[in-house]
Amino acid sequence: MSPQPVLVVGSIGLDDVETPFGKAQGVLGGSAVYASAAASLFAPVRFVGVCGEDLPADAFEFLRARGVDLSGLERVAGGKTFRWAGRYHFDMNARDTLLTELNTLATFDPKVPPAWRQTPFVFLGNLLPSIQGKVLDQLPSRPVLAVLDTMNYWIENAPSDVKAAAAIRRMGPSSVVVKKGEHGALLFTDGRVFAAPALPLEEVFDPTGAGDAFAGGFVGSLAAEGRVDEPSLRRAVIAGSAVASFCVERFSVEGLRDRSPKEIEARIAQFRELAHWS
Ligand code: AMP
Repeated sequence: MSPQPVLVVGSIGLDDVETPFGKAQGVLGGSAVYASAAASLFAPVRFVGVCGEDLPADAFEFLRARGVDLSGLERVAGGKTFRWAGRYHFDMNARDTLLTELNTLATFDPKVPPAWRQTPFVFLGNLLPSIQGKVLDQLPSRPVLAVLDTMNYWIENAPSDVKAAAAIRRMGPSSVVVKKGEHGALLFTDGRVFAAPALPLEEVFDPTGAGDAFAGGFVGSLAAEGRVDEPSLRRAVIAGSAVASFCVERFSVEGLRDRSPKEIEARIAQFRELAHWS
């Protein structure tokens, strides 16, 4: 298969983030934003998300400039963008959510443009689980790969929607990727296990969006190769880890904003060497 596009659906957020190294207020965030910024380093991205009038008009210019198709962006007149606030401790694996204000996300009814409904690679970012299901219902045929994320807020507030783990086990998946924060990622495929490293914690400035950046890089890399098999999965785990490492170096999406293909290649090479397996 030749390089394929990725459909990304998720939240757009205005975040307040506090880490031991500083504070950022009202900065661009959201699962769809981090994932698109990451995936578009590898493959063309089709973006579906909702925001309010309060989001700066040029917030997505860097994504547009990178070829992200924003036809699925809905801006609600008079509405407010989803807001989230979080605080990290010195052990940056621990974070407290201080605020979750759904605003326009509460009534989001994502519409996948008809021309995008056959997109072979799909990432459903952290979003109301029932809405993630509504997106899949709009795709007439099974995508080659659909990756789905969630988080504590939905596990606690919509437990009946979040039955994924049990359902996935019943499906008997051939490959499983486990992302373990500072401990990197594990890939289980065809009875073998591969471990990929993460950056040492001293180099982490703001972990927000690392999971979405990993997932975006992972799906983007597979879409760029146009296939899902053991070698491409291994390269995708390395690509995801490398992109997540860029993400955590700065607040918001700044770490993903101006990355040249050369820088990405160099970081991927560094991770490949650390992983010893590709
Ligand atoms: P991560 O650090 O990968 O868990 O992603 C953090 C991003 O998810 C932030 O930029 C938030 O705007 C967004 N977010 C936080 N809570 C939620 C939620 N309940 N639903 C959707 N997006 C969220």
